[in-house]
Amino acid sequence: MTDDRLRMTPGPTEVPAAVRERMSEPTPNPDVEPEFFDFYRDLTSKLEAVYGDDDIAILGGEGILGLEAAIASLVEPGDRVLCLSNGLYGEGFADFVEMYDGEAVVCDVPWREPLDREAIESELEDEAFDVATMVHCETPTGVLNDLEPVLGVLEDHDVISVVDAVSSLGGVPVPTETIDVCLGASQKCFSAPPGLTVCSVSDRAWRKIESFETNGLYTDLEPWRDAADEEWFPYTHLSSNLYGLDTAIDLLLEEGIEDVFERHEAAATRCRERAAELGLSIYPDEARSSPTVTALEVPGRAAALQQTLAEEHDIVLVTGLGDLADDVLRIGHMGHNARLERVDRTMDALETVLSVRN
Ligand SMILES: *Cc1c(COP(=O)(O)O)cnc(C)c1O
Repeated sequence: MTDDRLRMTPGPTEVPAAVRERMSEPTPNPDVEPEFFDFYRDLTSKLEAVYGDDDIAILGGEGILGLEAAIASLVEPGDRVLCLSNGLYGEGFADFVEMYDGEAVVCDVPWREPLDREAIESELEDEAFDVATMVHCETPTGVLNDLEPVLGVLEDHDVISVVDAVSSLGGVPVPTETIDVCLGASQKCFSAPPGLTVCSVSDRAWRKIESFETNGLYTDLEPWRDAADEEWFPYTHLSSNLYGLDTAIDLLLEEGIEDVFERHEAAATRCRERAAELGLSIYPDEARSSPTVTALEVPGRAAALQQTLAEEHDIVLVTGLGDLADDVLRIGHMGHNARLERVDRTMDALETVLSVRN
């Protein structure tokens, strides 16, 4: 089937043909075919190269599974968790913490603002915390948070860090070495279909995970520590999705991770230059926007623009979320979509739509 539709959304992203073809391989039975574990170990070691960090697990489930599993596995009832937030996903972590009977303390700032390092420091000085959560790229606003200073403060206070890097990992450098649990997903910069969560887990985080019994099976990270060595998964793994991810990671490593980062930078720059030509500003400002996604300020007309672009140009974009729902139009230039010609086709169409409307 050919399909001319251009999906420039900040996940799911366009899946290259090689990935789709690889997914049609015969389906193995992971439980009784030991080769499958060789394949899984090989895939996690490729992911270590992408992460720049070791001890990776791949769970069968969309990205949200990773966020919930991290909290379910690390937060014991009564644990204090500092949830850093300047966006929807940052806020969302607090809900998971409460679901698992942790005490969530939200340290937030308005969506346009950077995380407040001093406020974080003073929270940590007031009382001890077990875990802290944060988001690298807040996809609904396109903000890329500068996490290094914050991670340094958390390290000084011996707090386990959980980072949602779902929409940055594989497109932007992520400071994985100073992160205890770093979460990614197949359908963003990796350009594989939705269905898998990837996470790196530090020794310190594993110790915490092993220190208590969580209420859950699907959300329990503990069995994944030794899954590859013991050749036992807690449930039948999503073999076709894993095959697809394997090819997606091969493509990324063949290109070279540094070149992939540069390709994202170039696509973002092109998108923002063209937006400036159209007189559109970037939310919240260009300097803090992620190389993986651009949020264009179009107050009160995001939904109408989205609809026209889809109907008349076969281009799929997304609007903002929450308070920003109709005020920003978001273009994902992540993974396979981080290419100048795709950005140009999108911006050509947007230019046409805006000139007709004006
Ligand atoms: C996409 C994304 C997720 C995964 O969840 P969705 O079901 O796609 O919302 C988690 N965190 C961030 C920051 C994301 O961009």
